[in-house]
Amino acid sequence: MAGASVKVAVRVRPFSARESSRQAKCVIQMRGNTTCITNPKLPKDGTKHFTFDYSYWSHTSEEDPNFASQRRVYQDIGEEMLAHAFEGYNVCILAYGQTGAGKSYTMMGRQEPGQRGIIPQLCEDLFARVAREGSPELSFSVEVSYLEIYCERVRDLLNPKSRGGLRVREHPLLGPYVQDLSRLAVASFADIADLMDSGNKARTVAATNMNETSSRSHAVFSIVFSQRRQDPLSELATEKVSRISLVDLAGSERADASGAKGIRLKEGANINKSLTTLGKVISALAEATSKKKKPEFIPYRDSVLTWLLKENLGGNSRTAMIAALSPGRLQLRGDAEHAAVRGPHE
Ligand code: ADP
Repeated sequence: MAGASVKVAVRVRPFSARESSRQAKCVIQMRGNTTCITNPKLPKDGTKHFTFDYSYWSHTSEEDPNFASQRRVYQDIGEEMLAHAFEGYNVCILAYGQTGAGKSYTMMGRQEPGQRGIIPQLCEDLFARVAREGSPELSFSVEVSYLEIYCERVRDLLNPKSRGGLRVREHPLLGPYVQDLSRLAVASFADIADLMDSGNKARTVAATNMNETSSRSHAVFSIVFSQRRQDPLSELATEKVSRISLVDLAGSERADASGAKGIRLKEGANINKSLTTLGKVISALAEATSKKKKPEFIPYRDSVLTWLLKENLGGNSRTAMIAALSPGRLQLRGDAEHAAVRGPHE
């Protein structure tokens, strides 16, 4: 898909200590951009091959071309998306996959050296470029918002009083937005890191109060990035505004609501709605790109997530999707056995 407006990467996490101790078997192989998934349930050669823009894993060593550190994933995907934002495009990076497959690690990562995910690396890089390129003629402004979508309801993670249920509206020129959502101006990476921290804590606290885990909600970290250029002679100013949306999606196992009842059924159906609509929107956009024609109808308004990301997914935008996978057929986490990793063919 080189040059296309949607880039897709697969990232396989290493085995957890628990999986290693149970000698879980790796069902994935990688060759160049191709990810091969073996389904032991299928007779004889049950291996399927899928080609992506990038195929990553991390249980090998740095010399392996498919080995992906946090830095490598950022350099391949984050840097390119940031460059597009400086060119004036809206950009969006989404992490998709089952709970425990590595979405939060890929997007936020951990605090230890070398473990930071795409979001903190991109924010740091953004301010480094702003410091390098700013001048009396060229000034920048950066504003941040952080929200969570749970059961099709929006909650502001940067406003401790927010209880959820914020309304999504659509401005005729600027597109969809969340009414009353905090949008905070930031002047440095340290400012943004503080907001990220408090937003992440708000997410965890709310999830604990509801006896839920944050894996059931979609988290959207957005940066509105403006570049203002003033002509020194005429004093005429032009402004370029880009929105960068960085999304940690709900666990994809929620897309399957079978067997769920009551609130779980509602929750499953709602998360399903956002994830299935996202799938439909991305395929409609990808099809239009491959046929080099304008898409006829894109169902953005069928879910809160796709409605809010409308300006990031279609039109003047660039998107990257990272599918996080666990390496074994069964994903073991704590005492719970999560569903089998499903190959796209299942
Ligand atoms: P998810 O957000 O999809 O539920 P997490 O990002 O929380 O999953 O990942 C589950 C666990 O696996 C975490 O402890 C995380 O630190 C670890 N992990 C995930 N991906 C990697 C990776 N590529 N390298 C090392 N550890 C990883």
